[in-house]
Amino acid sequence: MKLLEGKTALITGASKGIGRAIAIRFAEQGANVAFTYLSSVEKGQALEAELQALGIKAKGYRSDASINTEAESLATEVVKEFGALDILVNNAGITKDGLLMRMSEEQWDSVINVNLKSVFNLTKAVMKQMMKQKNGSIINITSVVGIRGNAGQANYAASKAGIIGFTKSVALELGSRNIRSNAVAPGFIETEMTHDLTNKEEWLKGIPLKRGGAPEEVADCVVFLASDMSKYISGQVLQVDGGMLT
Ligand code: NAP
Repeated sequence: MKLLEGKTALITGASKGIGRAIAIRFAEQGANVAFTYLSSVEKGQALEAELQALGIKAKGYRSDASINTEAESLATEVVKEFGALDILVNNAGITKDGLLMRMSEEQWDSVINVNLKSVFNLTKAVMKQMMKQKNGSIINITSVVGIRGNAGQANYAASKAGIIGFTKSVALELGSRNIRSNAVAPGFIETEMTHDLTNKEEWLKGIPLKRGGAPEEVADCVVFLASDMSKYISGQVLQVDGGMLT
């Protein structure tokens, strides 16, 4: 028996990196997968075909998670197409780094909108369907940086810390409807987002397992939180960081 058989998932930002790995792991575990992308159109279309080849229903949507009306119409389309929505993974995220002294208002606003407002947008958009089903698992991708802060990433850290407060509040508000809400906090994961990091060696030194993580290692944790294996777990932040923050 596959862990996500019969479930329908919506994943934001799955054209590459961690989101893509989550989409593939979900499909391997039998879930039907709706996912979004924004600028990487070709990669999004290629993923749709790759997922369908795994024998599940899959569809990619070009949708900006930071825009409320786009999130609303996305959720409506997904429910119409798939007939259900059991799992939401808020994964879409960006960085626009800089020391606070030099950080522009645009750098602040865009990171908060894409990383944090998107989580509000999508959760609001899917919660009615989950309440109707009396079942749901919402998984928000935060970061160890949201727990401990990071010089040069005040905007990103604030967005990721905001996600943690939001996740715990939703767990409290929707628990009585059998809707769970958890966050996953990756540490240093090898993706395009971390490709150009200048202080990679510094990060690696601070990781007890002495290596960066793979996107699939985050995806495995998300599969657990999406599945009934975790059906009594809500309001938690699970770190996938090689032991970086203990
Ligand atoms: P990535 O490789 O840069 O991928 C980011 C994904 O988000 C892409 O698919 C991108 O789609 C999508 N996206 C960006 N803006 C979007 C928007 N407005 N609407 C919809 N989709 C949007 O990054 P990643 O490393 O996989 O990161 C995934 C998540 O994990 C992020 O939330 C990130 O903050 C978090 N995280 C990553 C690490 C790490 O070490 N990599 C650590 C902690 C947390 P397009 O390319 O199509 O625009």
